[in-house]
Amino acid sequence: MKHHGLIITGASFTYPIGKGFVPEHAVYDSGNWEEMPVRGTGAHRIATHLRNTGKWDIEVVDFLEAWDDSELHEFCETRITKNTKWIGFSVFFTYSIHEAPPIVRKQNRLIKHIKERYPWVKIVVGANKLVNVIRHENVDYFCIGNGEHAIVALCDYFTGNAKHPKVKVKINPFNQIDMVGKEFVIMDCFNDYPAFPHKNPHTSYEERDFIQKDEVLTMELSRGCIFKCTFCDYSPLGVKGDHSRHAENFEEELRENYEKWGVTHYCLADETANASSEYISKFADVVRKLPFQPQFHGFIRGDLLIRRAKQDWDNMIDMGFTSQSMGIETFNHASGKSINKGFSPLQMQEGLLASAEYFKKNRHTGNHYNQTLTMIAGLPHETFETLDKSGEWLNKYWWNQVTIHPLYISQHVSDGVDAVSDIEKDPSKYGYTWRDKTLLDKAIENYYYQHWEVKRVINPNPSLRQMVDNFPKDAALKEELKNRAEKTFQQVWVHPSGNYDQIDMLEWTTKYQSDRIIKLGRPESLSGWHMGWYKQLGYDLRETYEEKLPDITRKDVKKYFKNLERYKKDKLNWYK
Ligand code: SF4
Repeated sequence: MKHHGLIITGASFTYPIGKGFVPEHAVYDSGNWEEMPVRGTGAHRIATHLRNTGKWDIEVVDFLEAWDDSELHEFCETRITKNTKWIGFSVFFTYSIHEAPPIVRKQNRLIKHIKERYPWVKIVVGANKLVNVIRHENVDYFCIGNGEHAIVALCDYFTGNAKHPKVKVKINPFNQIDMVGKEFVIMDCFNDYPAFPHKNPHTSYEERDFIQKDEVLTMELSRGCIFKCTFCDYSPLGVKGDHSRHAENFEEELRENYEKWGVTHYCLADETANASSEYISKFADVVRKLPFQPQFHGFIRGDLLIRRAKQDWDNMIDMGFTSQSMGIETFNHASGKSINKGFSPLQMQEGLLASAEYFKKNRHTGNHYNQTLTMIAGLPHETFETLDKSGEWLNKYWWNQVTIHPLYISQHVSDGVDAVSDIEKDPSKYGYTWRDKTLLDKAIENYYYQHWEVKRVINPNPSLRQMVDNFPKDAALKEELKNRAEKTFQQVWVHPSGNYDQIDMLEWTTKYQSDRIIKLGRPESLSGWHMGWYKQLGYDLRETYEEKLPDITRKDVKKYFKNLERYKKDKLNWYK
C-alpha cells in the first residue's frame, strides 16, 4: 500500500473586473481589480515527483481561497487516514512579514484543525522564500526553494527509511517584535537539496484535479537565470551551461495535457525563458511536430529579444511564445548600466516596436500577441525628468500593459536562507540611505497602495486630510507603540541624489498609472499573466489582447465562481 499525503494549495490573483476606467464603473468597490482563487503551481510538480517514486499517493487540493473552513474539514474527513503521513501547504508571493494575509490565516485555521483532529500528521509548508511563510503556525517543516529532492528526503524520513534530513533551525529569523523565540525548522532546498537544473520537470495532472480545457497551466523550460541584476532577489542567479529541460519530456507533457484535458495554453515559470537561442530552437522543433498549436506566456529579457531579433523570433513564433513579460526597468542608460541591464534604451525602444510589429503580423492561427512591460522607479541616476520622459514614451507608443513599481529594497535580509539582491546586501554601495518612516508616511503609503494595487484612477490632488482619514487608526496606534526604526525596520530609502525617497516614488508611480488609465481610456489590465482569466471566461484572446479589452461583468465573475463550486463538489464527491 502506498503512503498517503495531501498538498493544499492555491493563490489569489488580482484579475481585471469592471466596465470602464473610472471607479464608478467598477463592479466592486475595490476598483477595476479583484482577487480570485486560482490553482497552485509548484504543488503539482512536487506531487508528480513523489508519485513517480512509486511509493506515494499524493493528492493536490487547489483553489484554497474558494473553500470555506467547513468544506475543508469535510474534505479532510474524506481523505485523511492513519496512512496519511503529511499534509503540505503552499503559497504564492504573500510576503507576509508583518501580519498573516487572509490565505495564510485560512491555512493556519486548517493546520490547527488537522493538528487537533489528526495529530499523527506532519505539516510541511513550501514556498520560494521564507518571508512568504513566516506567519504560518504549527508547522513541522518549512521547505524553501525548488523542493523535489528535499521532499523525497523528508518523506523517506517520515516512513522510517532514512535518517533525519538536513535542516536549519532559525529563531525569529526576521527579528519581528511579535515573534521573539519562535522557532522555524527549515529545509534550505537552494543550498542543501538543490533541484536545479532539472532536466525533467514534467508535471502530470490526475482525473481528480478536474482540469478544464480552457485552463492555462504552468510549465517550466529551465530553472534559474544566467544573469545577476543588482536589484534581483530571485534564486538561483548566474547559472552556467545548458539548464533547460530535455526536449522529449517537454513534448510528452504538452501531448499529455492536450490528449487528456484538451489544454494548449501555458504560463512559464522560468526566470528568463529566452536565455539561450539553442533551447528556443530546440523547443520550437518539438512544437512543429505537434498536431496542435500551443500558446506560451513567460518572462524574457528584452535585450536578448532585440539583439538576437529574427534569429529567435521565428522560432518563438513557431513555438507559440508570442506573449511575453519583460522587465525593462528603465529607459535611462546610466540607471540601466548600474543594475546590469545596460542595453541602449534607444535600441530597446526601437527593438520593442519592431518586435511588436513582427510578432503581431506573423503569429500563427491560434496564437495571440502580447508584450507586458515592467519598470522600476527610483534606480540610481533616475530623476523626475528621466521618469517623466520614459512615461511619455510608454504612453505614446506602448498599448500593452505597463507596470511601474517603486524600487523595493528589502530590510529583512538577515534570515540566512532567502536570496537577497546585491543592492539589499549593501544599499550604501549604491548610494541609498535610510530615514525613519513617520506615521504620515504610513498614511500616504496606505492611500497610494490602496489605489496602486488595484490600478484605480485616483483623485489627482488628494489632501493630506483624506490620506490620514483613510489610515486605519488602530494600526497606527499599534505602530506607535513599537520602536519602529529599530524593531521592525520600518524605514524608507532615500535616493542617492538626495532629491527624493521611496514615498515620493510611490506617489509618482501611482499618479503615473492613474494618468495612463485615463489617457488610454481603459483599465491597465492587459498582462499576459491574465490569459487564464480571459480564456476561462470564454473571451477570444486575440481580440482581447490585440483589439479591445472586454468589459468583465458580474456575470463573468459568477461564471468563474460556478466553475470553482463545481470543482469543490467534484472533489468532495470523488470517493463517495
Ligand atoms: S531580473 Fe530577471 S534577468 Fe535579471 S537576474 Fe533577475 S531573473 Fe535574471
